[in-house]
Amino acid sequence: MKKLQVPFFRPSVQEQEVNEVVETLRSGWLTSGPRVKRFEEGFAAAVGAANAVALNSCTAALHLAVEALGLKAGQGVLVPTMTFAATAEVVRYQGAIPILVDCDPVTLNLDLDDAARKLKNRQSADYADHHNRKLSKVVGVMPVHVGGLMVDLDRLQRFAKEHKLWVVEDAAHAFPAGWRRTSNQPWQQRSNGSSTVTCYSFYANKTITTGEGGMAVTSNAKLAQRIRMMSLHGLSHDAWGRYSANGNWDYKIIAPGYKYNLTDVAAAMGIHQLGRAEAMRREREAIALRYSEALAGVEQIELPPHDENHIHSWHLFALKLRLRRLTISRDEFMKELKRAGVGCSVHWRPLHLHPYYQKTFGWRAKDFPVATAVWKRVVSLPIFPGMRNDEIEYVISTVKRICARHAR
Ligand SMILES: *Cc1c(COP(=O)(O)O)cnc(C)c1O
Repeated sequence: MKKLQVPFFRPSVQEQEVNEVVETLRSGWLTSGPRVKRFEEGFAAAVGAANAVALNSCTAALHLAVEALGLKAGQGVLVPTMTFAATAEVVRYQGAIPILVDCDPVTLNLDLDDAARKLKNRQSADYADHHNRKLSKVVGVMPVHVGGLMVDLDRLQRFAKEHKLWVVEDAAHAFPAGWRRTSNQPWQQRSNGSSTVTCYSFYANKTITTGEGGMAVTSNAKLAQRIRMMSLHGLSHDAWGRYSANGNWDYKIIAPGYKYNLTDVAAAMGIHQLGRAEAMRREREAIALRYSEALAGVEQIELPPHDENHIHSWHLFALKLRLRRLTISRDEFMKELKRAGVGCSVHWRPLHLHPYYQKTFGWRAKDFPVATAVWKRVVSLPIFPGMRNDEIEYVISTVKRICARHAR
């Protein structure tokens, strides 16, 4: 087969997005204004939630969610160790303590049994932070829908209720995604409880993009109001409210807020990405099905899980290598992919294996046996809308060739 260069991700940007951005640039209104409002309303309708607040990242959404829920220094939050930096760092922004939880060996999502164990052991000295401030109480849980395969939200809500926890979903991978059993609508799936905020990412390589951007979604109007206010310096009025024709110039500072608002230039992209979200999901799903079918017999790898209950966003397609059947490590496997021109990535080195979290909280690999073992086996393949057939087939044949050459 002829050698190709297949990137890990290529954003899908069409004329509609380009034209809307250009119109925005010519409109005279660049920051948060009418297009942000349109994007928020469209997004809220798409997920079936009452309130959506557009922000300049998912990290900002996660931060403002825990802030609005009143997270305080010294309190604890259950956070999966299998996640990106953002999920735990926003807990640290508040001076609170992320209590890491191991993952399910198949889905890599948060393991609720381990979460219950970690809650039980929570007075352990390990959880004193570097100021030696002891953990007061555990107040929340922040599940991540890894790769776009959603956690069981009913089970999660039961768990949260039992332990009196709020829920902030890190849904950076999960738009659009859902459970088929509760609805036949693609993503009208959420058991969006009143103590829940769901946070989405529109980072450049996420399922829909605004370059940089995020959205906080909640059925709780008070939380939405707090998030909106804190996204703009804690002011009583936003810029659109102050400068538009029938706005009032005056504002009051209610709290020392942040600067997390999304621009209309970014929202211009978001409006059209939102309109194409399900079509792009279907394109990724078709690639995932083709990969799964073509790689089914390869003994050196395990395919990512999928079942009829889930509407999978297919943000990631992560293989798990069977290292006992290979003569090479995951890192060597990735080097071979890259040498052949195939982009790839790892999601993720678990948080408990990063120096900051190890030094600050003294976490040990043996507290997270599943994540510690599985992360050395995972490798994510390219999957994005607009991926050409020859690119898909090239990835498949390259994976097969590497497996055959290094089979044990
Ligand atoms: C990308 C990502 C984020 C952060 O999203 P930003 O929009 O870049 O802030 C948070 N959590 C997970 C799981 C992610 O993959």
